[in-house]
Amino acid sequence: MTNLLTHSAPPDNNPTLSPRCPNAPVPEALKPMLAALPQRRFFKLIGGGSLTEADKIASLAKAYALGGADCIDIAPNLAVIEAVDTALNTIPGPRPVLMISLPLDPDPHFRKIELAEPDCIRCGLCLPECPTEAIMLPDALNISQALCYGCGRCVPVCPTDALSLLPFQVDSQIEAALSHPAVQALEIHSHYCDPGMLATFLDRWQALLHDKLIALCFRPEAIPVPQLLDFCRTAQAQSALPILLQIDGAPMSGTEDPEASRPALEAAVWMAKQLASHGGNFPITISGGINTHTAQWLSETRYDFIAGVGMGTMARKAIWNLPKSTAAEAAKQIIGLFKTKSSGLR
Ligand code: SF4
Ligand code: SF4
Repeated sequence: MTNLLTHSAPPDNNPTLSPRCPNAPVPEALKPMLAALPQRRFFKLIGGGSLTEADKIASLAKAYALGGADCIDIAPNLAVIEAVDTALNTIPGPRPVLMISLPLDPDPHFRKIELAEPDCIRCGLCLPECPTEAIMLPDALNISQALCYGCGRCVPVCPTDALSLLPFQVDSQIEAALSHPAVQALEIHSHYCDPGMLATFLDRWQALLHDKLIALCFRPEAIPVPQLLDFCRTAQAQSALPILLQIDGAPMSGTEDPEASRPALEAAVWMAKQLASHGGNFPITISGGINTHTAQWLSETRYDFIAGVGMGTMARKAIWNLPKSTAAEAAKQIIGLFKTKSSGLR
């Protein structure tokens, strides 16, 4: 199985974790974001774990930062980190927390499309499916690898099976990404939620995790409950900061369908029940299918424990082609829905 660990550290069945000092002060830069969680006002722009078009991500990040986002979550790619950092330095007022996303194991957020050119008949059916306009058909089909984030929408429409998804390898970037001074948080994506693999990862990178907030992103279904709890507690053992859980409903499934975020909402309800009955206490956010309708669902009592959202596809799509002059205002309107309607202060 290809994963970060195979290239960065040998498997270790008995890793020794060194927890952050419980009395260490909370980094100033994290305080506004941490304050947004209990108020249920947390909003994160998901830039895309494998979206590496640096200038585009930097523009999105700036617009959502100006719009009031608490966190900007980007690929573990130095060019993207540098571009976003530079963009965020130009905004007045407090910066959102800069988070990088990493795959612990083969996770769908870290894929790229591959085209078998001889099989492509240039029918163009895949073009309108791509949310990032990565596919172009001037003469031959051209796919921007930097813009592709592996959502898979183009694959099933291809009549000749010319498109397939391959893992996006980030291994060579991880040390530089975690070492970058602008990176204040990391989100660890996992398909299998293996506590031993997580412990080995945290142990391998502990020197670079000091004072970084750790989030875990996973789909809880099909993972045994004791294993899930162990997975979360393994992360908590490494940090005196809260461990954020980002419960993923249907990865990269954003559409305008009012029900698109229902899998994430219901997965969060299920996870919260498991935590409540087993004594776990972690802030829960949701991702996967998040759109503007989600703000309305969050005002329902059933979901009143959810601390906020990470919005990817629909957040990017909303301002993808807007000029800079209007992008920030559009982002502000989207974030405003989550800062008011979904607020526990309603
Ligand atoms: S539709 Fe998704 S998988 Fe296909 S090229 Fe676009 S971003 Fe990549
Ligand atoms: S749908 Fe398939 S055959 Fe048609 S242009 Fe896209 S890759 Fe080529």
